[in-house]
Amino acid sequence: MASPNQQELLRSLPQVDEALRHPLIAEATAIAPHGIIAEYARETIGGVRREILDGASSAPDLDAIAAALRARIESLHKPSLRPVINASGVIVHTNLGRSALADEAVEAVVHAAAGYSTLEYDCATMGRGSRHAHCERFICALTGAEAAIAVNNNAAAVMMVLAEFAAGHEAIVSRGELVEIGGSFRIPDIMKLSRAAMVEVGTTNKTHLSDYRSAITEDTAMLLKVHPSNYRMVGFTESVSIKDLRALADDQRASEGRDILVYEDQGSGALIELACFGEYAEPTVAESLRQGCDLISFSGDKLLGGPQAGIIVGAKHLIDRLKSNPMARALRLDKMTIAALEATLRLYLDRERASERIPTLRMLAAPAGQVKEAAEHLLALVRESVPETHAVPTLIPEIARAGGGALPMCDIESFAVCIDFLKGDAQSCEAYLITKRAIPIIARIKHDQLLLDARTILSKDEMEEAAAALGAYFASLDSASSDGIDATESRVRA
Ligand SMILES: *Cc1c(COP(=O)(O)O)cnc(C)c1O
Repeated sequence: MASPNQQELLRSLPQVDEALRHPLIAEATAIAPHGIIAEYARETIGGVRREILDGASSAPDLDAIAAALRARIESLHKPSLRPVINASGVIVHTNLGRSALADEAVEAVVHAAAGYSTLEYDCATMGRGSRHAHCERFICALTGAEAAIAVNNNAAAVMMVLAEFAAGHEAIVSRGELVEIGGSFRIPDIMKLSRAAMVEVGTTNKTHLSDYRSAITEDTAMLLKVHPSNYRMVGFTESVSIKDLRALADDQRASEGRDILVYEDQGSGALIELACFGEYAEPTVAESLRQGCDLISFSGDKLLGGPQAGIIVGAKHLIDRLKSNPMARALRLDKMTIAALEATLRLYLDRERASERIPTLRMLAAPAGQVKEAAEHLLALVRESVPETHAVPTLIPEIARAGGGALPMCDIESFAVCIDFLKGDAQSCEAYLITKRAIPIIARIKHDQLLLDARTILSKDEMEEAAAALGAYFASLDSASSDGIDATESRVRA
C-alpha cells in the first residue's frame, strides 16, 4: 500500500501520452518508429513508478523524463557491440571477444561478407562443394590428423562428439576433470544433454589407470579426457595420460573385442608450442594425437588466435560420421568464420609468421623488453595529457595472463602504466573510462592504483586514445567541482 507521500509522487508522474507529446519526443519519430517510442515511454515511466514504490523521496518532472527517454531512443543508433581497448593484461579475454584477428583474416572476412564465394561450390568439378573443405586441409596439415571438421564452438564440438559416439552408452571420465569452464559450460551438464551416461572414476585429486579399467563394461563407448583449462591441482595429485588410456583401449580391443574411443576435449588447442610458456607448455594438438587420441576437440579463438569455432580432429571414418550427423548442419560455421579460420590457419604454415601476424600469439610471445618499450611510450603520452597536480603516472612491472582458460599458472612478464591519484580515485576513474567514452577502456585496479597493462594494448592509436581518456577524466573532475554538480546525477536512467 502506497503512503500518502508516495501517492502524491505517483500522481505527479506524466501519462504516457503526455510524454509522447513532449517536444523532445514528438520530434524523435524521425529516428525510431512510434511503436518503439511508446513502449520505451511506458517502460521509463513504469521504472520511475517502481522507484517511488521502492521508497524514492522525489520524482523527476516531465522534462527530465522526456530527456531520459530521448537519450534511450537515440541510443538505438549507437552500436551495442563496439570496440574496446583491452588494458587488462588478460590476452584471451572471453568477455572482450577472446582473440583479435590477424589482418589477413579480417581481409578474408570482408571479402566473404561483401560478395558471393565458393562456400559450397567446387570450381574444379564445376559442381557442389563442401564448406568443410576450406579449412580441413590446413587443420590436417598442421596437426597431422587424417580428417577434421570445424563447428560453431568447442562446446558444440564436445556436445557433438558425445552425442555421436556415446549417446545411450557410457563415457568414463575422471572426477578430477569434471570441470566448469565458465559461462555455464559444465562437463556433467553437456554429457546429460548429449544423452551419454557419465561414469565418474577416481577422486578429485587422484585417478589411476586401474580406476578406468575397473569401470569398463559392455556398454563403455568412450574414455573422455578433459583439459582442466582454467584451474590446476597441485600437491598430491595424479591423472592418467593419454598414452595410458590408449593402451587400455587397445587392450580392450585385443582381449574383449570392444571398440572404445579415446577422446580429449583439449580446450585451448595450441597448434604450436611457444617458448614463453616455459615449464607450463601444454601439449599441442599434434602431440595429443601422437599420444594416441582417436578424437580431439579445441577452440578456434583461444590460443589458436582465430575466430570463434570448435575444431574436431581424428581418423577419417570418425570425422565422416560427425559430418553426416544432423548436428553438423545445425552447428555449422558461416562463411565469414570459415574465411577467418582458413586465413588464420594459413598463417601457421610459417610458424614465425604466425607469431608475428596473429595478435593473440604476438601478445603471448612478445619479449618483455618490447612490452616495456610500449609501456614507456604509453607513459609519455599519459604524462602529456594528465596534469601533474592530479596524478602521478609511473611504469611498473606486472604479470599478464593468457586467459581463456589457458595456462592459468603461467605468469607472463609484462609492464603497465600505474596511476597514483592526487585527485579523484581509481574506482571513479575506472568507471569513467568504461561508461563515458565512445571506446571503453578496460583497465585494472590494484590497491588504490589504476593499471594499464601494455601487453594487451593493440596499437599506438589505442595508447593515444587511452591517454586522452585519462586526460578527459581529470578534466571532468575540474569541471565538476567548478559547476558544483558532483553527485547530483539524475535518477532517471537513460
Ligand atoms: C574453453 C573450453 C571449452 C569451451 O569452448 P568454447 O570454444 O568456448 O565453446 C570446452 N572445454 C574446455 C576444456 C575449454 O577450455
